[in-house]
Amino acid sequence: MPVCPLCNSLAKMKKACPVCGGTMSDEGVIQDFYDNYSPYLDMNIYEDGYRCHDEKNCVHVFSCRHCRAGVSVAVCRIDENDLED
Ligand SMILES: [Zn+2]
Ligand SMILES: [Zn+2]
Repeated sequence: MPVCPLCNSLAKMKKACPVCGGTMSDEGVIQDFYDNYSPYLDMNIYEDGYRCHDEKNCVHVFSCRHCRAGVSVAVCRIDENDLED
């Protein structure tokens, strides 16, 4: 069963803000934002991201600490067995 490396603390992802170039931090899986609507996130970005969410991808929301830009990123799930090579 493939797992998301970010949800399972197997890896960390850094992302540069497309707006200001600052460091964006992982705010968690998009379902959390879907359940608790956040007015800071652009609806279009977040709905596009949510559609990518399936058994192959886990969609995370990254937000910029400097300008509060928010983006959704599809993270490829990996097979846990592959890590033990
Ligand atoms: Zn995840
Ligand atoms: Zn920014």
